[in-house]
Amino acid sequence: MAVDSILSSPLGPPACEKDAKKLQFIEEMTRYADSVQERVLAEILSTNSHTEYIKNFNFDGAVDRETFKSKIPIVTYEDLQPLIQRIANGDRSPILSAHPVSEFLTSSGTSAGERKLMPTIKEELDRRQLLYSLLMPVMNLYVKGLDKGKGLYFLFVKSETKTPGGLLARPVLTSYYKSDHFKTRPYDPYNVYTSPNEAILCADSFQSMYTQMLCGLYEREQVLRVGAVFASGLLRAIRFLQLNWPQLAQDIQTGSLNPKVTDPAIRECMTEVLRPDPDLAEFIAKECAKENWEGIITRIWPNTKYLDVIVTGAMAQYIPTLDYYSGGLPKACTMYASSECYFGLNLNPMCKPSEVSYTIMPNMAYFEFLPHEPNSVGVARDSPPQLVDLVDVEIGKEYELVITTYAGLYRYKVGDILRVTGFHNSAPQFHFVRRKNVLLSIDSDKTDEAELQTAVENASILLRDFNASVVEYTSYADTKTIPGHYVIYWELLVKDLTNSPSNDVLNQCCLAMEESLNSVYRQCRVADNSIGPLEIRVVKNGTFEELMDYAISRGASINQYKVPRCVSFTPIMELLDSRVVSTHFSPSPPQWTPERRR
Ligand code: AMP
Repeated sequence: MAVDSILSSPLGPPACEKDAKKLQFIEEMTRYADSVQERVLAEILSTNSHTEYIKNFNFDGAVDRETFKSKIPIVTYEDLQPLIQRIANGDRSPILSAHPVSEFLTSSGTSAGERKLMPTIKEELDRRQLLYSLLMPVMNLYVKGLDKGKGLYFLFVKSETKTPGGLLARPVLTSYYKSDHFKTRPYDPYNVYTSPNEAILCADSFQSMYTQMLCGLYEREQVLRVGAVFASGLLRAIRFLQLNWPQLAQDIQTGSLNPKVTDPAIRECMTEVLRPDPDLAEFIAKECAKENWEGIITRIWPNTKYLDVIVTGAMAQYIPTLDYYSGGLPKACTMYASSECYFGLNLNPMCKPSEVSYTIMPNMAYFEFLPHEPNSVGVARDSPPQLVDLVDVEIGKEYELVITTYAGLYRYKVGDILRVTGFHNSAPQFHFVRRKNVLLSIDSDKTDEAELQTAVENASILLRDFNASVVEYTSYADTKTIPGHYVIYWELLVKDLTNSPSNDVLNQCCLAMEESLNSVYRQCRVADNSIGPLEIRVVKNGTFEELMDYAISRGASINQYKVPRCVSFTPIMELLDSRVVSTHFSPSPPQWTPERRR
């Protein structure tokens, strides 16, 4: 075959031969999406035919879609929880998967206040790595010369625990960074990071961030892209720089390492990096001491071509702040993934955030789509909804994602709502619309309406001694400051004005709310410092009636009006803020330990 034809792809001219193969793989998977899906389902069903779960449904060895769809129910995590608990407790029989469960991945979605436990198997690591290996070949189509420099990526591991049966339970990225797939990855000129593995793998978030930032500063001229997994993570790094630049500059000045970094592996590897560089130290100090941090990313890392961060879904709230700090650099959202399964990638990663669509890769799992009608909540249906196959979704329609994985989830509702925007070959492309039932989110936390309600109820117990109660409330995710924080607006009924709850009591109410929120929220507060103290803003009596009047004046029906439990619309925020009589903050962080409460 001629070199030219090896190096051509319908997606564009590949940067190198290795990229050409990866792009060709994407072409094949997407062109034959339906037959790939059929094969994936057959593989999953034949491998797992003797599992307890599948045997329950009398399959008789069938591996076809029709039998599968007629016999296997659509489930949520709660349906599987008793089986998952057995695995966690040490039952090694093939319950969900024929392959041994290698560990649990702890999702940021919670169930009864704790991270969901997703059983996974060893071979899933290969599948995840395969998806990662497609990202740079696609990026290289749009941005040239990325092999001439490095990526400054702020990557972190989080704490891990063991289940009663002895299996590890940790977030999927922690599992990946600690795997040999990541640690001993072969050298790839297109994927060189400034952060040493030792820094990424250090569980102490201060030492890890400090070292990664220091390395990034030393290599400021080489950095071509700056990133983190989510936008909130990159902003946390900027905030870290704001707080720690004097010490960082001092280390660069002297070529020594801050004594607060005690991890022996980091100290050892940093001997290769550290050198006194007074000019660089002076430059960093001069830039960071300026009052105005607008464009700081491009001032410090002048060759940055784009930011590599997810700004879709809940992370869209950070776009203006990222634009401010980066002078509007392109923001590449490269992939769409979860603890349950890695789904797909963005084939046009330099597009505007509002136009991001993810192409689901048909080899990753078997995908089905539950039609989602945004306005049909609570409306009775005559017949159960029909799930649609990957290649049969329709442009413009919204669906809830349902997956069947190699690791043993069958027709599992992920909870994400996606809208079809187009197709690449026969594989659909999806705009991430939202995650179901998420009211508030600052970082990876996801708080739903019921959790907020319970938190308000628990906090208002403290008001009983004062014969006071919360008559109405709503909430707001305040991301104007870094880290962002939850704001809860309370309208109080105080019966005895001579004995109204003091500032101190209301501060304690903030903490009581935080104590009631799920473990991901509390971990973000305590271990990651990625969420600030919760704030209660007490509003004047009658404020929520005004809120209703406002909604009705804009066309809401009086009969159907319900207080919105989360607000973000500017006129409503202005109304609420103009009625605030007092503000209160949590006086201390809530309780959190890596151990699960149940
Ligand atoms: P986790 O279970 O903690 O791994 O979180 C997975 C969830 O994060 C997904 O189900 C989505 O709701 C969200 N997510 C992952 N990738 C993206 C993305 N690229 N854009 C928007 N949301 C995402």
